[in-house]
Amino acid sequence: MSSTYLIALGSNRRHHRFGGPRAVVFAAMEECAALGTVTARSAILDSAPMGAAQRRFANAALVIESDYDPPALLAGLKRMEREFGRRGGQRWGDRVLDLDIILWSEGAHLSPGLTIPHPEYRGRRFVLDPAAQIAPGWRDPLTGLSIQHLAVRAR
Ligand code: AMP
Repeated sequence: MSSTYLIALGSNRRHHRFGGPRAVVFAAMEECAALGTVTARSAILDSAPMGAAQRRFANAALVIESDYDPPALLAGLKRMEREFGRRGGQRWGDRVLDLDIILWSEGAHLSPGLTIPHPEYRGRRFVLDPAAQIAPGWRDPLTGLSIQHLAVRAR
C-alpha cells in the first residue's frame, strides 16, 4: 500500500560532478524518483548557514508517493546521502546532501533512529518555506497546525 511523504532536501557543499549546492539539490530531487512517484516539487531556495556550517545552503521540499514504509524510505534516503558523498557522524557541519522525512500521510511514526513528524522542523524556515509552496494545507499531526501556519509563525 502506498503512502505519501513530505521530504526536505538541503546541501551546502559542492559535488565534484553535479556542481554547487543548488545543482546538488536539483540532482537529488531527480534521484528521488527512484523511491516512488514525486507529485510536487518546491523551488530551490537559498538560506543562511547555521551552526558550524560556513557556506550557504540550498534547500527544497518534495512530496512523494511511495510503497516504502518509513524505515525503508529512510534507508533509501540515507543511501542517497552516501552516494552524494556525505560523511557520517557530522552534525550541523558542511554536507553535500541532507535528506529528512518531515511528514507522513499516516501520521506519527516512532522507531529506533526515526521520528516522524521530524522533531525539529516546526521552527525551521529552511524546511517550512519550501514545504509551504507545495503542501500548505498539510496539518502537523501533533499540533494540528498547517504547514502554512507553521511557516508564517517561524518568520
Ligand atoms: P541529520 O543530522 O539531521 O541528518 O540526522 C541524522 C539522523 O537522524 C539520521 O541518521 C536518522 O537516523 C535520524 N532521524 C530521526 N528522525 C528522522 C527523520 N524524520 N528524517 C531523517 N532522519 C531522521
